[in-house]
Amino acid sequence: MWTCKRCTINLKFPECEPAIDHFGVYFLCPRCGYRNKLANAGKPGGPVELVQVGE
Ligand SMILES: [Zn+2]
Repeated sequence: MWTCKRCTINLKFPECEPAIDHFGVYFLCPRCGYRNKLANAGKPGGPVELVQVGE
């Protein structure tokens, strides 16, 4: 589960699809539109495992 850093709403994966741009991986909060950073915690060559990271 992810938590929006601005409005603190709790989100499950299907509610917010992660996206990627040249700054990295992130998801947009569906309630307030805040851009929450994500990082890939998976091992190299393994499956992608997205985790929420601090600013
Ligand atoms: Zn939010």
